[in-house]
Amino acid sequence: MEILTDPKLLQERCFSWRCKSLSIALVPTMGSFHDGHFSLMDYGRAEADKLIVSLFVNPTQFGPQEDLDAYPRNFERDAQAAREHGVDLLFAPRPEAMYHPDHATWVEVPDLARNLCGKSRPIHFRGVATVVAKLFILAQPTLAVFGEKDFQQLAILRRMVRDLGLPVEVVGRPTVREADGLAMSSRNVYLEAEERSSAPAIRQGLKAAREWVAEGERSAAEIKRRLELFWADRLSKGRIDYVEVVDPESMAPLETIADRALVAAAVRIGSTRLIDNILITV
Ligand code: AMP
Repeated sequence: MEILTDPKLLQERCFSWRCKSLSIALVPTMGSFHDGHFSLMDYGRAEADKLIVSLFVNPTQFGPQEDLDAYPRNFERDAQAAREHGVDLLFAPRPEAMYHPDHATWVEVPDLARNLCGKSRPIHFRGVATVVAKLFILAQPTLAVFGEKDFQQLAILRRMVRDLGLPVEVVGRPTVREADGLAMSSRNVYLEAEERSSAPAIRQGLKAAREWVAEGERSAAEIKRRLELFWADRLSKGRIDYVEVVDPESMAPLETIADRALVAAAVRIGSTRLIDNILITV
């Protein structure tokens, strides 16, 4: 496995691969790998000739009060794990290599970024879309693989690719979970023991929401009300950042569930903010 930190060298390497008609899968990450990341790598490994993983804690997607400095970083461990998952090229740039001091160009998809995580993280998706667009320009991937855990991110990136006509297939993969249902996340390491033991209630609530719809409930307001009660009982140290019922493509809030709905939530347990979602098809 080759490790590159220089964006220009990445671009040259990928250009030479594409000139030989080799397909490239890209998995953008912020590192601290867990099985969720590995499932994306394994998919990319199986689908393309070359597999690139980017490992970059992207500063522009963190707000001023967020955990950029504290974000877990384990480069040696990650590099070894990437090797074991058949990664051809690990791209790990320094922030200065990705952003000039007077960086001024942004990619924004505001209609899809307003709601859900965008409410409490107003610059987050601008940072994500910009860095992913830059990675696409550098790595020239045939396909790029993302997790459905970050469903809003996936919807935004799909829309960016469609609107800009970028020649890359965006693939979404299912959320990988701990045995008790908690969605794997690099941020789970922040949870204290008591917080960790209550965290599976997030997933339990979302599964209950799916049951309520299966039993005939169609009102988004009622589902939100029941979920708030469900979590108030079970997440003693939790505070709901949002719970929303939205259209899975446009991210627009739904009043009534007709065919497909995404129930998405962010919950703060102690100082850790966790997100999860469930796609419901009637
Ligand atoms: P991150 O390193 O957290 O930015 O995530 C990198 C990629 O891994 C994103 O596409 C995430 O959606 C995806 N991802 C994170 N957690 C999971 C998970 N539990 N299951 C599947 N994919 C995930």
